[in-house]
Amino acid sequence: MAELVIKNLHVNVDDNEILKGVNLAVNSGEVHAIMGPNGTGKSTLAYALMGHPKYEVTQGEATLDGTNLLDLAPNERSALGLFLAFQYPVAVPGVSVANFLRTALNAHRKVDDPEDKGISIPDFRKKLKEKLALLEMDESFAGRYLNDGFSGGEKKRIEILQMATLEPKFSILDETDSGLDIDALKIVSDGVNATRGKQQGILVITHYQRILNYIKPDFVHVMLHGRIAQSGGPELALQLEEEGYEWLREKYPA
Ligand code: ADP
Ligand code: MG
Repeated sequence: MAELVIKNLHVNVDDNEILKGVNLAVNSGEVHAIMGPNGTGKSTLAYALMGHPKYEVTQGEATLDGTNLLDLAPNERSALGLFLAFQYPVAVPGVSVANFLRTALNAHRKVDDPEDKGISIPDFRKKLKEKLALLEMDESFAGRYLNDGFSGGEKKRIEILQMATLEPKFSILDETDSGLDIDALKIVSDGVNATRGKQQGILVITHYQRILNYIKPDFVHVMLHGRIAQSGGPELALQLEEEGYEWLREKYPA
């Protein structure tokens, strides 16, 4: 059963065409990796799927579980179960991690049941404590302002903390590995793997093969010039690690 289906997706940013016909289908239970050089449109794909207003879809389709994503506002896509871990998480001074997560969680619950009164404080505390432990984060993070003064690695952990707390159906992880040292990478990957069986699909966007040693993909795709130029199994990631992207650039000139 196909979960996320992307057909001939074209996306403009400031009237420049960045995505030029992306096709991708992630079947239920699969993990797909998208690799590729910088500036080829990986984050553009992530933002377009989540509904960032600057990323204008000019052609094509994107559905999650049969529902057209492109007609929905970002919060509606989130309520449907789509989650994006940002490559560059934004700081929100004044909003604590705990408050942010509880508000997001309650917004989702309200979609499922308009009468819902929200998660109880003790239940929420218990859940947050459990997820912080999963990511080996100190409980003091809960009271700090979201990403405010966090290190690069801490921001990436907080993204996965959000994923673990919201329990989405489908996650897109945009360069979650960048900024993580090897120990943090292992912890974060374990955190992702702990949710793997409960999610219907995960898209791991990465520049480097390293994270794929921990989060093992079923399929690997390479994005080049706004299209998926090559697809294969995990061995494709290993080949890219050894040989770089040059052979692909030669095979698929701009
Ligand atoms: P990747 O994630 O593969 O490194 P991006 O999707 O971030 O690539 O960027 C693809 C191209 O789109 C780049 O040439 C980049 O400069 C351009 N681009 C992305 N976002 C914006 C934006 N907000 N404004 C202008 N150009 C953008
Ligand atoms: Mg990017």
